[in-house]
Amino acid sequence: ELKKDIVIVGGGPIGIACALECKKRNWDYVIIEKGALTNSIFNYPRNMTFFSSSEKLEIDEIPFISNKSKPNRDEALEYYRRVTTSNNLNINLFETVTDIKKEAGQFKTTSDKAVYFSDQVIICTGFYDIPKLLNVPGEDLDKVTHYYKEAHNYTLQDVIVVGASNSAVDAALEIWRKGGRVTMVVRGEGIGERVKYWVRPDIINRIKEGSIKAYFNSEIKAIKEESVEIHTPEGDIEIDNDYVVALTGYLPNFSLLEKSGITISDDQKYIPTYDPETMESNIEGLYLAGVICGGMETHKWFIENSRIHAKLIAEAIEKKQNVKA
Ligand code: FAD
Repeated sequence: ELKKDIVIVGGGPIGIACALECKKRNWDYVIIEKGALTNSIFNYPRNMTFFSSSEKLEIDEIPFISNKSKPNRDEALEYYRRVTTSNNLNINLFETVTDIKKEAGQFKTTSDKAVYFSDQVIICTGFYDIPKLLNVPGEDLDKVTHYYKEAHNYTLQDVIVVGASNSAVDAALEIWRKGGRVTMVVRGEGIGERVKYWVRPDIINRIKEGSIKAYFNSEIKAIKEESVEIHTPEGDIEIDNDYVVALTGYLPNFSLLEKSGITISDDQKYIPTYDPETMESNIEGLYLAGVICGGMETHKWFIENSRIHAKLIAEAIEKKQNVKA
């Protein structure tokens, strides 16, 4: 049994930012992270470039130096790793939080390794763990993935990339450049409006010239061992296929929030309840930070606009302590 002032659930950029605020105030905190440090970024595509420039990814004003204005995955890993290790942050890795309950004015946070008691809990669990599924027959075949890592495996193969936002577009271009035969299957009528401004013309031109094939207003109907059925406006077709890379987005894990008693909006957006000035949820002492705050609107929050949550929470806790003192 462990007693802490603050338990921080999730060791992404925002969890680390929260820990830095706690450390500054000499609070006894721990970050509990279910995977590696900054596990979401660790699982990004190997050659991914951020849409944000490096100074916008900085936390606690610690300089983030990158070679180009927009850093890549490796540089971001290096940055958050150095921030964590050089500040000696207290973090338990490869430990999953399974339950958070408030009992008799105290929080009881249960993980697969220990039970923690604390006065406050901050949930900053992000949204990269649950892929939005296509829900079609064959999606469970080994040739289907919802996470793209690198292109080499797809060289000289027939590859379908599902989706038309940043992840899908980056994957389609990279696989094509490494010699894969790429077909995009896109539910909407075009390439996403939020695709990085310097990448968008590249994909549009590759489609126009026929290097990458694209079916718009189309959906996969079924995935088979050697082919895929696609529903297109011109009718249903079946094409040869070796791999399906389905990049249609990810969902936050709402079950931990629900178990903790946090209420969630009952519209399509699933936005958890919090006070935007303090980031405190409807449960007193339980705070939300980072991209989890957007619910299903996973594009709403990113590092640049949510790193401030760490400060807002620390100031709110401080204020409460001053009232009590
Ligand atoms: P995360 O980084 O997702 O961290 C949450 C952490 O919580 C994870 O490490 C996870 O393992 C852990 N966790 C989850 N559940 C549990 C549990 N039960 N117990 C313990 N730990 C748990 N944002 C930008 O600002 N700029 C960009 O350029 C950008 N590019 C992106 C590209 C891709 C491909 C993706 C998917 C996202 C991108 N984002 C970008 C969004 C980015 O992921 C977030 O802005 C950032 O990671 C959010 O930080 P976070 O700390 O809120 O969440």
